[in-house]
Amino acid sequence: MEGGCACGAVRYRLTSEPMFVHCCHCLNCQRQTGSAFVINLLIEADRVELLSGEPEPVDVPRDDGSSQRIHRCPDCQVAVYSDYGRPEVRFVRGGTLDEPSGVAPDIHIFTRSKLPWVTLPEDVPAVDVYYDSKALWPVESLERLRAVMS
Ligand SMILES: [Zn+2]
Ligand SMILES: [Zn+2]
Repeated sequence: MEGGCACGAVRYRLTSEPMFVHCCHCLNCQRQTGSAFVINLLIEADRVELLSGEPEPVDVPRDDGSSQRIHRCPDCQVAVYSDYGRPEVRFVRGGTLDEPSGVAPDIHIFTRSKLPWVTLPEDVPAVDVYYDSKALWPVESLERLRAVMS
């Protein structure tokens, strides 16, 4: 899968499927995107191959006082991925894929702040806040995460 920013300066290729896909309905994601939710592909940083450009890290404040590092195209400023204090794992923004329909969420998180007109599918897990990855991730994905965090 390939994707990039709006102006084309940043282009990336994912060298494998993501480990897991979040659809996050939290207030931080709503504010950062100016939209109802964000789609994040969780994947090892070394599986995000940059084809062109160099995303610029910007530390963005979150409601809990922490910050989240969002990597943006230095020219058009579109956010292509972020990390949450663990640079080994990237959260690639699904909307920046050339074909966003190629991925679907494995889980909906922070549905406590989901906008009321967003209807969730019944066959995808949804949680009020967060969840235990050990309970929901496929075994292969847990092994990949363990490998990259060790
Ligand atoms: Zn750009
Ligand atoms: Zn969120």
